[in-house]
Amino acid sequence: HLYWAVLWLALAAGMEVIGPLLGKRLIDEHLLPHHLDWTRMALLLGGVLITGWIATIVRYLQLVRLSGVAMRSVQRLRERVYGHVLRLPMAFFDRAITGQLVSRVTNDTEAVKGLYIQVLFVILDSSIVLIGTVAAMAWLDWRLMSIVVALLPFVLVIVWAYQRLSAPAVTRARQLRSDINAQIAESIGGMSVLQANNAERRFGDRFAKTNDEHYTQRLAEIRANAWLLRPALDMLNIILLASVIFMFGQREMSAAEVGVLYAFINYIARVIEPLIQITMQFSQLQQSVVATSRVSILLDEASAAEHSGAERRPRSAANDAAQAVQIRDLDFAYVDKQTVLHKLSLDIPQGAFFGIVGHTGSGKSTLLSLLLRYYPAPHGSILMNGVPLDEIDNEEFRADVGLVPQDPFLLAASARENIDMGRGLTQQQIETAARAAHAHDFIMAMEEGYDTVLGEGGSRLSTGQKQLIAIARALAGQPRILLLDEATSHIDSQTEQIVQEALNELRGRVTIIAIAHRLSTIREADRIVVLNHGRIAEIGPHDALMQIEGGLYQRLYLLQQLAA
Ligand code: ATP
Ligand code: MG
Repeated sequence: HLYWAVLWLALAAGMEVIGPLLGKRLIDEHLLPHHLDWTRMALLLGGVLITGWIATIVRYLQLVRLSGVAMRSVQRLRERVYGHVLRLPMAFFDRAITGQLVSRVTNDTEAVKGLYIQVLFVILDSSIVLIGTVAAMAWLDWRLMSIVVALLPFVLVIVWAYQRLSAPAVTRARQLRSDINAQIAESIGGMSVLQANNAERRFGDRFAKTNDEHYTQRLAEIRANAWLLRPALDMLNIILLASVIFMFGQREMSAAEVGVLYAFINYIARVIEPLIQITMQFSQLQQSVVATSRVSILLDEASAAEHSGAERRPRSAANDAAQAVQIRDLDFAYVDKQTVLHKLSLDIPQGAFFGIVGHTGSGKSTLLSLLLRYYPAPHGSILMNGVPLDEIDNEEFRADVGLVPQDPFLLAASARENIDMGRGLTQQQIETAARAAHAHDFIMAMEEGYDTVLGEGGSRLSTGQKQLIAIARALAGQPRILLLDEATSHIDSQTEQIVQEALNELRGRVTIIAIAHRLSTIREADRIVVLNHGRIAEIGPHDALMQIEGGLYQRLYLLQQLAA
């Protein structure tokens, strides 16, 4: 496609250069000397018209080809960027701002297209026209040509001044546009909190302020364009025309030279226009360069798979050790030096049920995130079935480990799709999982059963129901290890008992690690791990922990009994 586009382009440029030459011959050889040879004149006139038509048609073809190439490349790039974002490690999303990410995947990839269609081709096209025109002028009258060419460097000066003026505004405007996206995304995401805090006006004002600044920056760019670039170049055009006409005035005006004047006036417009086009591309180029660098920074983020440099081994090569999970002297910090977990060691046998308790911020969710490989743990500090965590093949790992997160996330899709999550499960498997999680009954109670569409974020379900869906989703994958983070915090005691039973049914088959504030959920656990400031304070079954006089667990438990 590119090859054809370049070919069309060269043809169009050639036709545009030939047109005035034919016109010149028509004037000089026939019109002025009154040498009215009608056939030759018709041929020349036809030539002028036909070259014009060909140029127009070929330009159309070239534009279509080129747009095809550019759009296809944007599409591919966008797919690649989104595909990459899907594989980024969780640590990236701690820092990422949703709206900015959205604008990278949508706007910035679009701006990269500008580089193809506009910048590269307009510059190529204009250069061909420019060179052809200058050559034709030199052939007609080299002295006139040298005047025109001598004045051309002024264009560069004008461009330079324009760039200096507009570049900061261009960059700033792009940044602001992505801020605008970010603000919209953020407020929609947190609409209930926003309205509850009566913050509509404040958010509206903040948005108006950003928009206003965006307007100012865009206007500054357009001003530089309208006040400097266009007028200065138009002025140059006039100076060029005046000089050529002045040169003619100085000479003995011979009849034969009127055609040359005609051709020159035509060509001057054709020399100025590509130069204007080229200069205009610089602002597009700036935008494209900024956008390209943003996209490439994003693409350079190491994906989760690349993150742990170690070589991946499929499970078959691993020895199926009795310990489902082994944790050895695990130290971890999100931010340098602020350790969240200290020298943690823990053995969790196959099929065991482990509970993790501890006060807020003690590191429970962090431990789970490490077990889920959201963040890289130090090599060898966590082993699953005897294999270091970072050496396990990603797909096998995800198939093995199920998660019920602290805040259940639902897609804007049907109940079925929310449990299936694109794994292609059968209705049978989905229903079995939903029954096990005791979600089946309330799903069937909805008007369309499993096909009922849950709103984005599952807003038409209660939080407890969302948790049950999340549990069903985790069970549907038939994991060998099931991680639960506060899976029962939002459900009533009766439903909690049901979930408890469901967990008990899994005992022995599935290794369960459950974080719970509500201690009744994990009362039956084989071992309860009590975390305190990232360290294991106590560990043992419920009864043993209750024996420790003044122990952390005992205090927590009694407090909860009291509250109940
Ligand atoms: P809760 O019971 O409230 O859920 P938790 O035991 O799950 O608490 P964690 O979420 O593991 O607590 O957090 C442990 C510590 O790590 C906290 O001090 C928290 O501030 C910090 N922390 C958690 N997530 C991050 C993060 N993404 N970046 C930096 N620090 C974090
Ligand atoms: Mg937590």
